[in-house]
Amino acid sequence: MLTRIVLATLPLVPKQLMRKIASRYIAGETLEEALARLTGLAQRGHPGIIDVLGEGIADEREARAVAANYVEAARAVAAAKLDCYVSVKPTHVGLTISEDLAFELYSLVARACSGLGLFLRVEMEDHPTTDGTLRVFERLRAIHTNVGIVLQARLFRTIDDIDRLAKGPLDVRMVKGIYLEPAAIAHTDPIRIREAFVQCVEKLVGRGARLSLATHDEHLATSCIEILRANERPADSYEFQVLLGVREELWDRWKSDGHTVRVYVPYGPDWQAYSLRRMRKNPQIVGHVMRKMLSFR
Ligand code: FAD
Repeated sequence: MLTRIVLATLPLVPKQLMRKIASRYIAGETLEEALARLTGLAQRGHPGIIDVLGEGIADEREARAVAANYVEAARAVAAAKLDCYVSVKPTHVGLTISEDLAFELYSLVARACSGLGLFLRVEMEDHPTTDGTLRVFERLRAIHTNVGIVLQARLFRTIDDIDRLAKGPLDVRMVKGIYLEPAAIAHTDPIRIREAFVQCVEKLVGRGARLSLATHDEHLATSCIEILRANERPADSYEFQVLLGVREELWDRWKSDGHTVRVYVPYGPDWQAYSLRRMRKNPQIVGHVMRKMLSFR
């Protein structure tokens, strides 16, 4: 109920206050602000991931401009000698317009990243985009060695998608999945989502994939580390990935245990509309933000 009220009144919150709330999770509006945040994280021993906020682009020219922004971000990250890679949402580079356009623009970013020695992650959005995203990723993987994908434990299909992905080197960011999906196609019980995550990790370890465990769920992280240790996976074959501003006490603990903890740093002028869209799609995020503001944890 409270979440619904907060969601309904969020558009009325003054931009300055929204910005203050969002600044914990979003680096700022400009590339310079993102670089400053990444540099601060690097000084604390955390490599980064750079993401330009946005999604659902319906205009080809806009999608091309987004790809150019990503190339600019990649060049800036390389020039600053940051250990940081680039992460791109498929609908931000035109997947809703056409798969060919998304493939073309991902290829452009992948080529630029490759020339700079950087990695490119293809992110995963809601279920109507899953097939298209996997097809674009497979086309990219056939040409570029510096690309990886995101897989969502929440979706029933994911465990079989791992088998369907072509043989060869594979780099996966495993997530629970941020989009609330229909019960007919996805786990809705948090315990089942966690179990599915562990099953996917087991399968990915079995096929020798490089793994990014993108979670702030300590219990889940412990189960995954047990699987990696039981399979004698070296520390450089996996890493933890976390969102800017979320459970920083965990980052330090994992880091002092010898794990790499890479931080996702989103930025861009679209931050306000993007934050609102995200909160509407998954009202749990409102709860997280409110708890942080009230310092309950
Ligand atoms: P949860 O059970 O949701 O959270 C564990 C604990 O962490 C909670 O108790 C809470 O205290 C805290 N927490 C979690 N999220 C927040 C938050 N936003 N604010 C404050 N506290 C929080 N999802 C996709 O669908 N596609 C992607 O491409 C994608 N990329 C991601 C990249 C990274 C680096 C990360 C870390 C996540 C990504 N996600 C993506 C989101 C992911 O799917 C989950 O929604 C998100 O990580 C929360 O799940 P959790 O595993 O941390 O577990």
